[in-house]
Amino acid sequence: MKNRAAIIESVDLISADVVGLAKIIFEFSELSYEEYKSAETLMDFLKGKGFSVESPAIEELPTSFIASYGSSGPRVAVMAEYDALPEIGHACGHNLICTTSIAAAVALKNSGAIDEAGGTVVVVGCPAEERGGAKRVLVEKGVFDDMSAALIIHPASMSTGFDISYALKTFSVEYFGKAAHAAADPAKGVNALDAVIQMFNGISAMRQQLPEKVRVHGIITNGGQSFNTIPDYSSAEIGIRALTMEEVDEVSEKFRRVVEAGALATGCEFLLKQTEQMEEVYVNVPIARLLDKNFESVGEETTPRTYEQGVGSTDVGSVTHVLPAIQGYIDITGGKDIPTHTKEFASCASSDYGYKAMLRAAKAMALTVYDLLSDQSVLKEAVDYFEERRKEF
Ligand SMILES: [Zn+2]
Ligand SMILES: [Zn+2]
Repeated sequence: MKNRAAIIESVDLISADVVGLAKIIFEFSELSYEEYKSAETLMDFLKGKGFSVESPAIEELPTSFIASYGSSGPRVAVMAEYDALPEIGHACGHNLICTTSIAAAVALKNSGAIDEAGGTVVVVGCPAEERGGAKRVLVEKGVFDDMSAALIIHPASMSTGFDISYALKTFSVEYFGKAAHAAADPAKGVNALDAVIQMFNGISAMRQQLPEKVRVHGIITNGGQSFNTIPDYSSAEIGIRALTMEEVDEVSEKFRRVVEAGALATGCEFLLKQTEQMEEVYVNVPIARLLDKNFESVGEETTPRTYEQGVGSTDVGSVTHVLPAIQGYIDITGGKDIPTHTKEFASCASSDYGYKAMLRAAKAMALTVYDLLSDQSVLKEAVDYFEERRKEF
């Protein structure tokens, strides 16, 4: 009990610093892969608080980092995101994700809770969530190999330790035709725009036969160069989502035939490439329950996560497939149903209410990490739950 109170007090003691940090990151609003100033500022803060910092975490991601404090024993990761969106800045509230994790880690150190419990708290600086799914690369390069568990808390319109997310694969499609004057010699052309339109119509027809809770959506990124020339080139980006990767793969196979049909119908050549992949989040229920309990203990009311609240995809999914991990949510809107990726949500991410909510999230996160490090049976329950599911992967 002594340590729990000390952890909460430690978050309060650094609250002004951490809110200041969140405001700076909000102002930077750097895009995926370009978060140099943000990463630098966060690392400086952690160095100043006595963390040992490695940067980059892996060569492939220059804006990634690892900051740790502790001794031998289990290593629990708290993940930091700090990328923003074009035009609308921190409309996903990632300025609050990084500061939640950092405040939790620093409070665990300052309170003496880590020294007492043993083990290590590791802040993993994860760039490029919005575009690129960089956590998958961090996972592939082994950054999480020596971690026992991992947590992240994302801003939202509700608070919970649970998540639902889609598995996602994205594709680029290109069609190659033959140019010709659209009025003088149309019969000599092979129309790449027609091919991509055929593909979109094919997707629309396919949609009727798709199972529930599957999403196929995209845009035409190149539909030709001038109206009076038969387009010899067209391209599109398509995303396919379902609640499991298995289902995504089944739909992807149908999609491949639809792409081929566009080429066949028009006489174009085509090139289909997978560009990105995000696994579905596999919620570690014991850790999610623990976070819910700790939310309640710091006065944050939790609500169940439901499909109807809206579901997206996240690269946190990749992490949840290799170790016990969760993505929780913190209400920064005061319960108002304000969707992420909007200007209104960006306002919440830099509001007094949002900053106070971030501090409550940091307390609940720190308490959860403390539970995992200080009580071996708690960590064992999380690991057992993970191992059970892994048999099915
Ligand atoms: Zn987002
Ligand atoms: Zn986000």
